[in-house]
Amino acid sequence: MADSMVNLEDISTDSLNLPIFREKKLEVSVLRLDKIHPEISGNKWFKLKYYLETARMWHKKRLISFGGPYSNHIVALACAAKAKGFSSTGFIRGEKPAQLSPSLLAAHEYGMGLEFLSRERFRMKEEPSFLLALQKQYPEALIIPEGGCTEPGIRGAEEILSFSDISSYSHICCAVGTGATLAGIANASNPAQKITGISVLRGTMGFEPLRTSWINDPEKLYRINLIHDYHFGGYAKKSAALLNFMNEVYEVSGIPTDFVYTAKLLYGIADLAWIDYFPKESRVLIIHSGGLAGNLSLPSGTLHF
Ligand SMILES: *Cc1c(COP(=O)(O)O)cnc(C)c1O
Repeated sequence: MADSMVNLEDISTDSLNLPIFREKKLEVSVLRLDKIHPEISGNKWFKLKYYLETARMWHKKRLISFGGPYSNHIVALACAAKAKGFSSTGFIRGEKPAQLSPSLLAAHEYGMGLEFLSRERFRMKEEPSFLLALQKQYPEALIIPEGGCTEPGIRGAEEILSFSDISSYSHICCAVGTGATLAGIANASNPAQKITGISVLRGTMGFEPLRTSWINDPEKLYRINLIHDYHFGGYAKKSAALLNFMNEVYEVSGIPTDFVYTAKLLYGIADLAWIDYFPKESRVLIIHSGGLAGNLSLPSGTLHF
């Protein structure tokens, strides 16, 4: 598939020299997937790639998926669908708001049809009876699960690490929503590399929301650690401390983060460094999964970038 839609050659591995990392003798780098596209950002492009290819192979005309009103996945899908000549429909959780969120406005501008589902109906979206009825209504459509967390999405995420020379890293860290990105990264990691995921959802435990069946080698499960302490109150919740931290990271490194995923990831990693979670001399690779457009929902002036 031609990848002219995104600028993969812009992906860089930048060093992140926060004082706490220097103090703890850690070498920390950031794999900048955020640089590939302002909207099909980061991990979403990797997760969508093989769904788009499937749709093309099956001569589908439309892409359908699901998401909340602030979903990066929905915007990425709308943008990718337009670029590849598909129609698209997004089923959005909840009643239609009086004013569309920046994400939904962007999706609408890319030509996506938006359908609002009550929370009860939205919860049924993985049930075969619901999906069968939907497929019947849209026979020309490929239905993509929310967050792209089936095989094609994980396969796409497995390609993320090929954009850096990962051989020297002891730890690889990423933000976790559905866990599909982390699964792809774990599958592509080298033996002995430790994989740390920071969950951005409240109330997850253990490997949740990751499914162990997504991991290709059961031995790898021993090297995966999900941390549930940095959701800042739940999905898309934030505090003044988090927003100040984002500004500080940007001032020190020039790396912008988003408040829903990557700021919580970086904050978690800095905090974990403080409690010596990473042994001295560890080399840590952080995956910047993008999502910067999500910051548009913050009052202007909150961030210094
Ligand atoms: C969607 C998203 C994630 C979460 O990815 P999952 O594969 O669902 O775990 C992480 N970071 C950003 C910026 C995202 O938009």
